[in-house]
Amino acid sequence: MPNNDQQIIHRISEIIAQTPNAQQGLQQAVCCLVENAGAGAGAIFVIRPQDDRIVLYAAHGVPATLAAKLPLELSSDTGNDIIRNGRAVNDRKKHLPPELVGVFAHLANGFHSLLLLPLVVGGRPIGSLALAREADRPFPQRVLNSIEAVVPPLAFFILNALLADKQHYSANAGNTTATAELTQDVILKGKAITKGVSCGYVQKLVGVEKILQPKNHPDSVTPEGIAAEKRLFADALRVAREDSINTAKQFGDVLAEADSAIFAMHTMLLDDPTLKQHITAYLDKGFLLTDALGRALRDFSAQYQKIDDPYLRERLSDIKDVMLRLKNAADNLRGSLEAAPADAPKLADRRRIILVARELLPSQLVSVPLKQICGILCEEGGATSHTAILARALQIPMLVGVPGIMLKARSGDCVIMDCGSDSCFLRATTALLRRFAGPIRIFRNSRQNLSDTVPPESALATADGVPVQLMGNITLLSEVVSMHHYGIRDIGLYRTEFMFMIRNAMPSEDDQFNIFSRMLKAAAGATVTIRLLDAGGDKPLPYFKTDHEDNPALGWRGLRFLLSNPEIMAPHLRAILRASALGDVHILVPMVADLYDLAEIKQALQVAAAELRQRGDKIGDYRLGMMIEVPSALYGLDRLLPEVDFVSIGTNDLVQFLFAVDRANARVSKWFRQCHPIVLRALQDICRQVHAYKGKTVTLCGELAGSRRALPLLLGAGLRQLSMTPHQAPVLRPLVNQLSIPDCEKLFARAILCETEMDVMKLIDEAGMIKSPS
Ligand code: PEP
Ligand code: MG
Repeated sequence: MPNNDQQIIHRISEIIAQTPNAQQGLQQAVCCLVENAGAGAGAIFVIRPQDDRIVLYAAHGVPATLAAKLPLELSSDTGNDIIRNGRAVNDRKKHLPPELVGVFAHLANGFHSLLLLPLVVGGRPIGSLALAREADRPFPQRVLNSIEAVVPPLAFFILNALLADKQHYSANAGNTTATAELTQDVILKGKAITKGVSCGYVQKLVGVEKILQPKNHPDSVTPEGIAAEKRLFADALRVAREDSINTAKQFGDVLAEADSAIFAMHTMLLDDPTLKQHITAYLDKGFLLTDALGRALRDFSAQYQKIDDPYLRERLSDIKDVMLRLKNAADNLRGSLEAAPADAPKLADRRRIILVARELLPSQLVSVPLKQICGILCEEGGATSHTAILARALQIPMLVGVPGIMLKARSGDCVIMDCGSDSCFLRATTALLRRFAGPIRIFRNSRQNLSDTVPPESALATADGVPVQLMGNITLLSEVVSMHHYGIRDIGLYRTEFMFMIRNAMPSEDDQFNIFSRMLKAAAGATVTIRLLDAGGDKPLPYFKTDHEDNPALGWRGLRFLLSNPEIMAPHLRAILRASALGDVHILVPMVADLYDLAEIKQALQVAAAELRQRGDKIGDYRLGMMIEVPSALYGLDRLLPEVDFVSIGTNDLVQFLFAVDRANARVSKWFRQCHPIVLRALQDICRQVHAYKGKTVTLCGELAGSRRALPLLLGAGLRQLSMTPHQAPVLRPLVNQLSIPDCEKLFARAILCETEMDVMKLIDEAGMIKSPS
């Protein structure tokens, strides 16, 4: 029964999550499976990565003498090939292949039949699950079905649990050299800001609070001394200001709109009278400049920590950044740059650096040669921190919220970062490096080869010649370059909200127009789908105060926020309409719920256009589209479609609202079922309705669009335009070439008859249409 399968999977995932030690967790998981299958004993065998040997890792119902020895390396003749080759067996003892008798002997005194199922991840066997029972006949189909459904997620749990637990490597009879080598791995989890797989050597950066830690008492300085410190402060302000302007210029091309916003903010802060007065007050009391900076920073930190709004609280990092610039400038002027980290000379010759800090400031980031930075690991910081924005723009893998990283990482440690799984591996071993070598190389090459060239119009088609278009989802102007690198020409979703969020004040119509025109210039004739500001909810504008909302996802956000703030909407619409004269602009309206919403925004566009015409500004021919992300738009599509030129399906929100499951809440993420038959039916229904209109188009721009596993189903549903995070395109392109539409449609027809997402996943895997990447 599918429901029962899901319960077991949830139960096992809970067991593993709640048990600190992987082996104990899996031990309990086996117990749960044994009970569920009505078996007498069970075991999990894993293939040890460093030497390919089989280890009996966890077992239940086996003799106590055996249980005490776990994990236990098996002798080489015990069923190794069957497990290593991922073969399944369900038979009576007397019919078992001879190599399995040893395995069986481990488990099964007094048992007469054995079920052995391969645990496969990414097409590769990582071990086997074995169940034994007393009855002298194979396990019945009912049990088989149930266990088979559990096995794919179980394999993932096992892999993750093993990776998170170094004990995996230390089988009692293990190869001690390899074991010693591998037990150095320390796995830490964080939250990925940028994707990517990377490897480099730790360079720890001392926190600015520590660098600026003030002394307890003022130095007893004379009036001349105080005057000299004030002169030093004035000079440091000048140097820091120049420095900040130069950094903005230096990174202007790479960082596009982020540059002016971030570094201009630092320049502004250096001009801020409050900051100056505060520091000067300490200088007047006889403190040296470094102490005065430290004291002022301590005061500001205390004030900022009282702020509720997380975005505003994060702005403290800008003040820290400015203080650090001032301190460095003062040290330079004094001729003593003591702020360099102690390990800097040792690491100077290291070519690939992973920066590790409690909190990394933008000026610390840009003080290291960018080409050498392979990753960033921080204990603190969020997605809207300026360093996070820079890291995204520069395509540097970054994890924030990595607990204890400053304590656990040692300078010079070799680290692997796998942002796809929100993990980093400290003191990575040769075996681990070997495992990650391929993905690291691919990611490194992709960063190195970034170029400005717009890719040629490439006709992507399925094996049977049906054209498919892959487009890019971007948030920053600088991402256009990487998008081109990944072979994508057209922008299927430009999320404009970031440009609003990284500023201290509302960007003017001209500010916005400048960015849109740079975007269109970079796109060089390709389509740019500009989504109207989708702010509010979890993306508040820092300079726009709103009341607390109990349900922000259902609150004052997206189109509702725009329509009720004409002073924000009008310049925004005018900037976009002006940009439409410069290229192929598609305007995309977020969070449309019904015809009334559409009518309102169309009316606002007309008003904006009339104003522009009166001013003598040009407007181009743009296409108008709407997001389908609110269920009411899904059901009212027949009425909405005549009013738009195209639709874009936002599955991130659509799934959130269809299943009433918060897309950002990790505790309910297993209920966020993007491949559920209900979602698939919705996709097919939308495609059918849109295709009935000549010239109207439908794109999928939610995260689902970049899923290789879901690809055959998306094509089977009728989708031909997918907009995704650019780096996903090179993975999907060859798969599109391999698939044929009739095959995808057949699979789709079976998928929508499934009852659960789990069944759909199983169907996809069994169909074997998606080959694992080589
Ligand atoms: C979506 O909801 O699927 C979408 C693409 O928009 P966002 O993720 O920006 O809400
Ligand atoms: Mg959305």
